[in-house]
Amino acid sequence: MAIRMGYWDCPACGKKKNPGPERGCPQCGTSRDPSVSFYTEDDAPAITDAALLERAKAGADWVCPYCGADNAATRNACVGCGAVMDGAKHREARYIPDQPPPPTSTASAKPRRLLPIVLMTAAVLFGAIYLLFIRTRAVTVAVARSSWVKTVQVEDLVTQHASAWRSEVPHDARITGQVTKERTRRVQSGTEKLKVGKKDLGNGMFEDVYENKPKYVEQRYSDEWVSYDVDRWVQGRTLKEERSDGSEPPYPAFAAQLGQREAGRSSEIRLELSGGGKSYEFTEKNASAASLARYKVGARFTAKVNLVGSITELVP
Ligand SMILES: [Zn+2]
Ligand SMILES: [Zn+2]
Repeated sequence: MAIRMGYWDCPACGKKKNPGPERGCPQCGTSRDPSVSFYTEDDAPAITDAALLERAKAGADWVCPYCGADNAATRNACVGCGAVMDGAKHREARYIPDQPPPPTSTASAKPRRLLPIVLMTAAVLFGAIYLLFIRTRAVTVAVARSSWVKTVQVEDLVTQHASAWRSEVPHDARITGQVTKERTRRVQSGTEKLKVGKKDLGNGMFEDVYENKPKYVEQRYSDEWVSYDVDRWVQGRTLKEERSDGSEPPYPAFAAQLGQREAGRSSEIRLELSGGGKSYEFTEKNASAASLARYKVGARFTAKVNLVGSITELVP
């Protein structure tokens, strides 16, 4: 909890590093005005003088409202005019955090050099995405084939083999084997006092500020590395019913066997279109009788086609 010497620069004669507690400039005699601010250095001498220490701990200096003199908090009457301290403003005491330690050259160089590359890559990617997928041209197309497709997605229950540390094994797993292995973990071994900054005491002196930070060590310990089987649902077949004659198909029949389940269904209209000597495909999700009627064979639309030849929108 060291208290260190602060300094101030004389605004009148320019003399640097006047001792903080000194109320007048040793070179020109100008008084240490309230507008003068204090600074210190990390290796500034620690204060050992009992009277100065008492003054440092008494708090920020006060400014005489009558003559403007800067007074130590231990004084009751103004050193300049003798007025009592009542109602006087104190200088501000403030906390100054230490600068974070300068990053090592490799750590600092990398992000700075990477940032322009990352930005440029992002710009190029965005440009490519825009040109290929977002920018479109208009093409007049006609429906060549229209079908209503309904699907049922099936999932199968599959036994998966895996291994993990004991505490990470899923609760529904069946254990098939285990071995003891060494591993390491980070444990808190205690705390350490670290200097995190200093406090401008507002009286020409500064106090180091410390904080208790947790301290960690790597600890080796034994754990079980477990092999296990676990059943998981994975994507299986897609059942499909399709009609191209303008009628609505039923959903595919699906009766779940043991180890099977339905995972979702879809109903959509798939179109084949032609225009400008080319053919296109387009899928409308959430099919209905009305949408099927709209997409009769021969019906004409304006298609918005992107550079890779996909229709992004169909406008009547
Ligand atoms: Zn001076
Ligand atoms: Zn005064």
